[in-house]
Amino acid sequence: FVKEPGAVGKLEKLLEMKIEDLQSHPVVVQESSSVYNAIVTLFLEDVGTLFVSDKEGYLVGVVSRKDLLKVTIGEADIQKLPVSVVMSRMPNIIVTKPEETFYTALRKLVDYKVDALPVVVEEEVNGQTRLKVVGRFSKTTLANVLASHLSEL
Ligand code: ADP
Repeated sequence: FVKEPGAVGKLEKLLEMKIEDLQSHPVVVQESSSVYNAIVTLFLEDVGTLFVSDKEGYLVGVVSRKDLLKVTIGEADIQKLPVSVVMSRMPNIIVTKPEETFYTALRKLVDYKVDALPVVVEEEVNGQTRLKVVGRFSKTTLANVLASHLSEL
């Protein structure tokens, strides 16, 4: 397809597109939610990664399929155990922003070997920078964007 006239230019434009125009809907659970509830949410929402927020709705962590699987094969009472115990936590969360490019987010997924990035905006709260989740950019989003844009080349 890159031999088609204009295909390379279109590909370049795609790589430069902003995340805000490509992102998917985020699925967020509160840090006090149980591991059981998180697993049910994964199935109901058909996603592989959940973003975790505090009561005010600010990002505190990310929980993946394997984080949940790992705790489920142990002795834990998953109805009682909060997701905050098994999630990866801030400040070690890799995020993207609405104004970042498709290429930047794609690189982050590959370089940090994660399946999904929360799309966040910064808010100042009592002199501290907190992150609000406004979207999701996952390997599934990436595949869908590529499939729909490449078919237009
Ligand atoms: P899985 O664990 O199901 O293979 P991932 O490869 O996305 O899914 O996750 C690998 C590890 O990285 C997990 O422990 C998960 O909590 C963590 N993780 C996932 N996404 C992110 C992210 N955006 N930033 C930081 N850590 C993440």
